[in-house]
Amino acid sequence: MCAVRLILLGPPGAGKGTQGKFIQRQYEICQISTGEILRKAAEEQSPLGKKASQYLDKGKLVPDKVMVNLVTERLRREDCKRGFILDGFPRTVAQADSLEEMIREMGLKLDGVLYFRVPQGVVIQRLAGRRTCKRCGTLFHAAFNPPRRPNLCDRCGGELYQREDDREETVAARLHVYETQTAPLIDYYRRKGLVTEIDGDGSAEVIRNRVLGALEGLGK
Ligand code: AMP
Repeated sequence: MCAVRLILLGPPGAGKGTQGKFIQRQYEICQISTGEILRKAAEEQSPLGKKASQYLDKGKLVPDKVMVNLVTERLRREDCKRGFILDGFPRTVAQADSLEEMIREMGLKLDGVLYFRVPQGVVIQRLAGRRTCKRCGTLFHAAFNPPRRPNLCDRCGGELYQREDDREETVAARLHVYETQTAPLIDYYRRKGLVTEIDGDGSAEVIRNRVLGALEGLGK
């Protein structure tokens, strides 16, 4: 299979995590979810985790420098040689500029940016019901995509939990941060001719087919 290097863009709850995991399995490439890496670090109380916790809990962005160092280190690992999907990075224009430099230095290029467009009402509903497996990270929704056994992951049997920052108080802050700091990246990448827009409203399966269509359009 050929290498695929993608960015997934869209608001929290757009389906980046679910579709990113799908693309990862389909192409056997690495999925880098910066949110997942930070949550794990916070749980382990590592130096990165301690630094990140104060931002995560408030739905604010962790400083660019911390994030750029983290992703630079991650992209250099062996498992990214066959390609990668970035989910949750970049989130600011400064991060996007750094990523461009990083990729150029590695002698690589991005294949595209999949932008998931989803109405805000849908995003709020999805975040409120989102449940994540503690062990393998598989995503469920309490109403739209419930696990077969209550609170247990279909894939690995792990326990499901609700992310602290998916609580109503924090969701508003995260959506504001998205609109002001991350949404400008849509035009940033449009100007580079890299954006494929995907209608992100619908079931995970319907959207998966749209993703496959978009990847075909990119020649992948
Ligand atoms: P996510 O799982 O992508 O929704 O990210 C959860 C949280 O992790 C965000 O609300 C931020 O606090 C932090 N985070 C994840 N990725 C980034 C990033 N690229 N830049 C800054 N903060 C980030």
